[in-house]
Amino acid sequence: MREVDVIVVGASLAAAAAAKRTVDAGLETVVLERKELPRHKICSGILSPRGHRFLLENFGPLPREVLHEPTSCRGVTFHFPCRVEMPMDFFHGTTPHLHRKYSDHWAIQRSGAEVHDQTSFAGLEDKGDHVLVHARRGGEPVEYRARQVIGADGPSSLVVRAIYPDYPKQIPWFFVGQKFHEIIDCPLSPDYFHFWFHPGLGHYTWSHARDGRQIVGVGFKRGDNFARKHQVVEQYLKDKHGVQLKPADDDHEGCAENFGPSLINRYVFGQGNVLVTGQAAGFLNMIGEGMSCALHSGAISGESIVEAARRNRPVQEIYRKMIASEVRRCSDQWNPLKIAFDRPHEADFPEALLKLSWRERKLVLRDMWNFIVLFKEFKWGRQIAAAALQRPMFGGYPLRKWL
Ligand SMILES: Cc1cc2nc3c(=O)[nH]c(=O)nc-3n(C[C@H](O)[C@H](O)[C@H](O)COP(=O)(O)OP(=O)(O)OC[C@H]3O[C@@H](n4cnc5c(N)ncnc54)[C@H](O)[C@@H]3O)c2cc1C
Repeated sequence: MREVDVIVVGASLAAAAAAKRTVDAGLETVVLERKELPRHKICSGILSPRGHRFLLENFGPLPREVLHEPTSCRGVTFHFPCRVEMPMDFFHGTTPHLHRKYSDHWAIQRSGAEVHDQTSFAGLEDKGDHVLVHARRGGEPVEYRARQVIGADGPSSLVVRAIYPDYPKQIPWFFVGQKFHEIIDCPLSPDYFHFWFHPGLGHYTWSHARDGRQIVGVGFKRGDNFARKHQVVEQYLKDKHGVQLKPADDDHEGCAENFGPSLINRYVFGQGNVLVTGQAAGFLNMIGEGMSCALHSGAISGESIVEAARRNRPVQEIYRKMIASEVRRCSDQWNPLKIAFDRPHEADFPEALLKLSWRERKLVLRDMWNFIVLFKEFKWGRQIAAAALQRPMFGGYPLRKWL
C-alpha cells in the first residue's frame, strides 16, 4: 500500500490547483485519474479573465498547444427570442480558448504532483488520523493511505457519493450535449461565445467556432432526447440567424451536469479528512463557466490542508472558513441583487443593456423572465431570494446549507 500525505482524485483544473498548493508546501501528493492522460474533456474552453490570471500566476504562460482555433475569445453574445443581440466583451481584453485535453494535462504536470492515470477512485474509509483510498487500475485493486483526500472529480463525483450516498438524488441533473458541423456560412461572430436565452430551445443553448467547425450545443433536463433537441437548435440557427451548416460529424458528445448548487448555496465540501472541491463541490458560474471557480476552489482546498497542519486545527474547520470567499464570488453571479446593483460578472451586462433602446430593454427583460420561468419546477426561486437577502445582512452566504 502506497502511503502519501495527500491524494487528489481527478486530474483536471481543480486538481492541478489543489496539488500545486500541497506540493509547494512540501507535501507528498498523488493525483489519481481514471482516464489515460492527456484525456479528453467535454468543454467549450472559454476561459474567464480570472481563470486566465490564475493559470498565468500559478503555472506560467500558456503554450500554443493548449489552445484551440480561434486561440482567443472576446466575450459572450446573448441572444433573445425578440432577436436582440447583446455582445459583451470580457473586462481587460480577450482570453485564451483552451483545448482542455492539453491544457489540463499541462496544468497537472506544472503542479509537480505525481500522477497515476488509468487509476479509478472506487471508495474510501476515513479512519480519523488517515484515510484509506480504494482504487482500480487495469481491473486490479490498488490501495493508498493518505492523511487527507481531495475530491476534484467533477460533476458526477464518486468521492461525493462515497461520503454522501444520497446526494445525487437531492439535486436535479441535466444533460448537455454538443455536435460539430462543417461550416457553409455562419454569420455568428467567431470571436464570441454565443448563448440563447430561449425557453423553446432548451435550458442551456450555445454555439461557437472551434478548429474550423461550428459547435451547436444544447442542455436540458436528463431524460429528454438529445438528437431532437439538437435538431431544433440547428433549425433555429438556420431560420433566424442564417447559419448554414453541413450535417453533424460523427464525434458528438455529452455528459451529465450538476447545475444548481451554486444558485442556492447548496455546496458539498466533504467531511473529516475528505475535502470536495471544483465542480464536484457545486461550483459553477453564470452560463456554465466552471474553470475559474474550479481553479480557485481547488487552490483553497490545497491551502486548507497546509493551513490546518500549520495551525493544528481540523481541516474541515479551516476549509469552510477559507472557501467562503469563493462561495461569495460564485453565488454572487446568480444573486439578483448583485446583478442589479453590482458587477459580479466579468463582462458588463448592465452596460450592454443600457446601450439598447427602451423598447429593446423591455423585450430583453421580458425574454429573460420567460427563460427563468423554465426553471420554475426546481423551486429555486425562494432559496435564491433568501440567499440574496442574507448576503448583505451577514456579508456572505450561510454556512449551514453546505454539506
Ligand atoms: C459542454 C460543456 C461546456 C463547458 N464550457 C465551459 C467553458 O467554456 N468555460 C468554462 O469555464 N467552463 C465550461 N464548462 C464547465 C467546466 O468544464 C467545468 O466546470 C470544469 O471543468 C470543472 O473542473 P473540475 O476540475 O472541477 O472537474 P472536471 O473538469 O470535471 O474534471 C474531473 C476529473 O476527474 C476525473 N475523474 C472522475 N471520476 C474519477 C474517478 N472515479 N477516479 C479518478 N478520476 C476521476 C475525470 O476524468 C476528470 O479528469 C463546460 C462544461 C461542459 C459540460
